[in-house]
Amino acid sequence: MRKLQNKKLCQDVRSLKNSEFVQEALNLGCLDAKIIMVESIITGHWVRLKCQYGCKSFANTLTCPPYSLCIEDMWDLLGEYRQGLLVKGESDEFVRNAVADLENKFVSNGFHKAFGLGSGACQLCTPCELENGCKYPDKARPSMTSCGIDVFKTVQSNGWKSSPLAPKDSRTEHFGLVLIN
Ligand code: SF4
Repeated sequence: MRKLQNKKLCQDVRSLKNSEFVQEALNLGCLDAKIIMVESIITGHWVRLKCQYGCKSFANTLTCPPYSLCIEDMWDLLGEYRQGLLVKGESDEFVRNAVADLENKFVSNGFHKAFGLGSGACQLCTPCELENGCKYPDKARPSMTSCGIDVFKTVQSNGWKSSPLAPKDSRTEHFGLVLIN
């Protein structure tokens, strides 16, 4: 029975793959985009540990830990969605802007729960307005990593090839996610 349900869900996803969601991402300049099931999103406590011990943005922007969603809250959030749009872009900055734009487009098309998760720390302001609150709340979005998502496993589990072993600065592929419905 579970297999049958999964098959039905996959069929739904395939029908959306050709829909305007993917095309909207490609129109914005994303290198690729695909509709994925939320069940395929992989999380790990270790991801946040890497933010805390190894990233200079930790506690320095409102989109990074400890301000971003903890993994337990992320699990709850993912439980409220069925599918999302995984996007690939050429830089963190591009992906951050793209997921915010896509979120807005999807919301204005009736997908009121749409929410974007970007790549890397927000760098819209220098420094981040930690004391006074976010200056651009419509544009700033937490990265997938900052909420405990294992980006590379998630990407790989959805059929895209990508390696976390490439040096961060030389990476040509960056990933984001827009939770849709
Ligand atoms: S938009 Fe500015 S204030 Fe908001 S999270 Fe980004 S850097 Fe911080």
